[in-house]
Amino acid sequence: MAERVGTEPSVFTRILRGEIPSEIVLQTDDVFVIRDIAPQAPVHLLVIPKTEAYADVTELAAGDPKLLAAMVDVAKVAALQAGAADFRLIFNTGAGAGQTVFHVHAHVLAAPAGLGEGTMAGGMPDGDEA
Ligand code: AMP
Repeated sequence: MAERVGTEPSVFTRILRGEIPSEIVLQTDDVFVIRDIAPQAPVHLLVIPKTEAYADVTELAAGDPKLLAAMVDVAKVAALQAGAADFRLIFNTGAGAGQTVFHVHAHVLAAPAGLGEGTMAGGMPDGDEA
C-alpha cells in the first residue's frame, strides 16, 4: 500500500519514535538503519534519514546532497556490520518503480558468503512483493 508524506508521519518516522516496533541496527545523528520487514535477500537493510522532508532520492539530492552522501556512508558501514563488503544500493523512486513509502530510503541488499545461497534474486525490491 502506498504511503504519501502529508500530515501523518511516515512509517519510518513512527519506527524512529518507537511507535512501531523495529530494531534500529545502526544510527548516526542524521540517519538510521533497520531490517526490511519483507527481506528480498539474505541481508536487506533500509537506510533512512531521520528527517522525512524528502520523499525520494531526487528530492534529497537536490535539497541536501551531503545527507545523501551520509546515507551512502552509513549503507557501507551497515553492510560491513552485516558481513557484506559488497552490496546493492537501491532507491525505488516513484510509485511506478515500486516505491511505497515516500520518506526517502535506500535498500541495502547483500548475500555474504555463509548466509543463504550466496546469491540474490535479480529483481528490484518492489512494494508489491513486500
Ligand atoms: P519501497 O517499496 O522502496 O518504498 O520500500 C519500502 C520498504 O519498507 C519495503 O521493502 C517494506 O518491506 C519496508 N517496510 C514497510 N514497513 C516496514 C516496517 N514496519 N519495518 C521494516 N520495513 C518495513
